[in-house]
Amino acid sequence: MAAEPSGTAAARPAPGALTARIAETSGGDWRRDAACRGEPLELFFPRLDVVPDEARRICTTCPAVTACLEYALAPHVPPIIGVWAGLSASERRRLKRQVA
Ligand code: SF4
Repeated sequence: MAAEPSGTAAARPAPGALTARIAETSGGDWRRDAACRGEPLELFFPRLDVVPDEARRICTTCPAVTACLEYALAPHVPPIIGVWAGLSASERRRLKRQVA
């Protein structure tokens, strides 16, 4: 890990802190507040030839998007598929490479 520039580490939340905070305010489960609850699964797990615009639109309204993104970027075996936090699996892989 690269060294933090002086003075920035204290201002940045610890990994998982946002998830914990959201979990606290939603009774321990950020998924309870998810805007995708009750939406058709095929919006978030579309066929490969379908652009998931409607899922992305729903994610922009979601109060749990930060916790969802943290969850989606964490290691999963097998890797999770579908749209999470408005990002497809390939977009999440690209984001992980950019922040690594
Ligand atoms: S950000 Fe999107 S995928 Fe994640 S919980 Fe919210 S609506 Fe669902």
